Amino acid sequence: MITHSFSIKRYFSLLFVLLFLFSGAQKKFTIVLDAGHGGSDIGTNRRYEDLGTVREKDITLSIVLKLGRMLEKNKDYKVIYTRKIDEFPSLTERTTLANRSKADLFLSVHVNASPSSSTSTQGTETFVQGPNQNKKNLEVAKAENDVIYLDEKDREMFASYDPRSPESLIALKIQQSKYLESSLLIGSLVEENFAGRDKRNSRGIKQADLHVLRMNAMPSVLIETGFVNNYAEARYLASDRGQTDIAESIYDAILKYKDRMDRNGGIQAKPAEPVKPVEKELKNDFRILLMSSPVKYASGDPALKGLNYVLPIKENGLYKYYYSVTNLASVRDNNLKTARDAGFRNATAISFIPNQKLGVGYYTIEVANTDQKLSSNSFMLNTLKDVTRVKENGKFLYTYGKFASLEDAVKAQKVLDDKGIKNTVIQKNYR
Ligand SMILES: [Zn+2]
Repeated sequence: MITHSFSIKRYFSLLFVLLFLFSGAQKKFTIVLDAGHGGSDIGTNRRYEDLGTVREKDITLSIVLKLGRMLEKNKDYKVIYTRKIDEFPSLTERTTLANRSKADLFLSVHVNASPSSSTSTQGTETFVQGPNQNKKNLEVAKAENDVIYLDEKDREMFASYDPRSPESLIALKIQQSKYLESSLLIGSLVEENFAGRDKRNSRGIKQADLHVLRMNAMPSVLIETGFVNNYAEARYLASDRGQTDIAESIYDAILKYKDRMDRNGGIQAKPAEPVKPVEKELKNDFRILLMSSPVKYASGDPALKGLNYVLPIKENGLYKYYYSVTNLASVRDNNLKTARDAGFRNATAISFIPNQKLGVGYYTIEVANTDQKLSSNSFMLNTLKDVTRVKENGKFLYTYGKFASLEDAVKAQKVLDDKGIKNTVIQKNYR
């Protein structure tokens, strides 16, 4: 009897140990939900007579809270919010929170708008990190200096992990390209649901250089849930029904995503059923050439037909307008379709060799193009040193800097933009 109860006791204690180990092994799938904008940053918005002012920051919060409640009811998920109220965490605060919490997935929810007051354009689109950002992610991962970014398989391969060793860098690079693949997977599941379940117009998956995606050391997407300056969509986005539909579609996509990850031990493993093969990155970047024109259009000009991420490059006196940039064939084709749908019937995809240095000539930045000479105490001439002025066809053209590659010029242009010198144009000089 004593022996018997002893063995039962042992049996139970073993059971408890096993249960404990099992529950410990079942780590919750952690999702960071980021409601775009907030507080003084209201995001994009429009006023309608019957709807009042429809604000991006309210819609994103409401969708995220609905989605969060659905996830929290499911014991497999842990939800972290970048905000639960009407406040504005900085972009850095959002990404730092995500990285520190070692999340498995980062979803940022936004509302779209084209520059015009109203538009017939409608639909959803989901952004993943752009082609040149793996390096940035790598820096973040290195800075965090943590083995946690490597999954089991990588860790076996690189057992003696030293963050400064070249092998570990290779491991991190493998991990980084997995983030992109996983981001594309969750993005396509979300867009498929918008189109299939909600019968909405899906504008597909795109790549962009967005800080909130760039700085994350995990699969991340930014979801544009619709256009606030399209009346029908504004109505839908502002409604409880619309917000619930959107939250449900994202929720369902997350379940499918986690299921795919669990079943296949991650995206790298051979899928049990035929699924689209994971797309390989192309060697070159592709931009969509919308048009060439002697006229300079600022971003948001109606001539650009509501397209964002347009990069004008001046060559031989003509402004060439390039839309978006990607090194994925599917995204390139999708961008081309978006450009043609917007009305650029002759749009074509142009290939760019990444970080190509010009053998002859250089890039510079046209910072002003005016009828009158700028005064020497103008904001621009006071802010920038080494500005060159030439007179061309009766206009005064001011240029700044010399850069060997387009990427360097784009970087310098961003710095200018932060200093308040906006609407500059990169210029390619042949000598
Ligand atoms: Zn936004």
